[in-house]
Amino acid sequence: MIETYSQSAVAEAKAYVENVYRSVVLRNPHESEFHQAAREIFDSLVPVFAKHPDYRQLGLLERLSEPERMVTFRVAWVDDSGRVQVNRGFRVQFNSAIGPYKGGLRFHPSVNASIVKFLGFEQVLKNSLTGQPIGGGKGGADFDPKGKSDMEIMRFCQSFMTELYRHIGADTDVPAGDIGVGSREIGYLYGQYKRIRGASEAGVLTGKNPLYGGSLARTEATGYGCVYFVQKMLQSADLDFRGSRVVVSGSGNVSIYAMEKAIQLGATVVACSDSAGYIHDPDGIDLETVKRIKEAGRGRIAEYAAEHPQAIYVEGCGGIWSLPCEIALPCATQNELNEQDAERLIANGVKAVGEGANMPSTLEAIDRFHAAGVLFGPAKAANAGGVAVSALEMAQNSARVSWTFEKVDGQLHRIMEKIYADCTEAAEEYGHPGNLVVGANISGFLKVAGAMIAQGVV
Ligand code: GLU
Repeated sequence: MIETYSQSAVAEAKAYVENVYRSVVLRNPHESEFHQAAREIFDSLVPVFAKHPDYRQLGLLERLSEPERMVTFRVAWVDDSGRVQVNRGFRVQFNSAIGPYKGGLRFHPSVNASIVKFLGFEQVLKNSLTGQPIGGGKGGADFDPKGKSDMEIMRFCQSFMTELYRHIGADTDVPAGDIGVGSREIGYLYGQYKRIRGASEAGVLTGKNPLYGGSLARTEATGYGCVYFVQKMLQSADLDFRGSRVVVSGSGNVSIYAMEKAIQLGATVVACSDSAGYIHDPDGIDLETVKRIKEAGRGRIAEYAAEHPQAIYVEGCGGIWSLPCEIALPCATQNELNEQDAERLIANGVKAVGEGANMPSTLEAIDRFHAAGVLFGPAKAANAGGVAVSALEMAQNSARVSWTFEKVDGQLHRIMEKIYADCTEAAEEYGHPGNLVVGANISGFLKVAGAMIAQGVV
């Protein structure tokens, strides 16, 4: 049922949202990524505040957009030449209304307060959408893992955890991976946590190796989950992965398993990329080669073309969106797909876009897709599979059991289908049928809001 609200209710809700947005910008100057995430979320919530004027009185938006806590800390470590290096570490504990703070750690030179806060804000609503009992947090460091030796990575992780350990715990805050933090880094972080605490508290981190408490299918979860979500979008329009050309940006964990599932479903993945450039293989990307270069060797995607002469390598990443395809999966990083990219994709006949990365499309690009009737799966819904399986890892750790790959993958599939259904329903109920950006923000917000209200003013 589509609800309509009086014009005055909508005008009051808009004025409230604008006011709070202005104060977010004033209070967090120069944090453009955080502003961008807030802008998208706030705009979506206007119909909610029109329907529930009492939510304004409760200051729900003011509370939602102010993190409960944020720490920054010095990370000093010794490089292979014996020189001491210093980086800055972050952890934002954004919202614990529905469970312990939960969200990844990103190691990348671009990491700063704005990036960590945009990711943390998104994470609150994403985690709510999973239906699992997890609040939202995020963290990381401006450390560049590129070119570092294995021992340097280990020493950095140990120093990072030596400060972080006092802020986290299985029932308080549970970090995991993100860009630059995979199974190897989680292992070093966990080893140091255990050494400091003198106890095996496996539930303090997720994304662990299954050898010591990790969940099967966690590695695949974000990419597989994204494809399960897009599959539902495609079905709604009588389309399918089978026979479609797919462009996937990135070649990290999310991209690799999005490609794997898309190929399993009969699609041809024609391109993928890394931070230096992209490869175009019209015959279809050979995933084993990508895995060998990226997972085993930590090499560059350019090496692919040397082994596959029919493929071409192009320097620079933006051009990947000029390749004709029916399905685009941006799985690399924030703001990697802008308005011009969206226009090129639309001109080339793209039918669906599923965001595997966090906030990969600019606000203008999203507007273009919506205006052109392209099916659009926003990040906080489409990439929620990773953190959903992290919650399943926490459940297994608490029960001291480990489930089979099939069991976890089956649950992931059901969770992604439920997220799709919830987003679709909320979009419709609040007057924006088919707009999954609005649907995801509203559906995620309503649960957090309900939990916040039930727990009083905190
Ligand atoms: N970094 C991932 C995300 O953006 C996963 C977080 C987690 O598993 O806690 O959702």
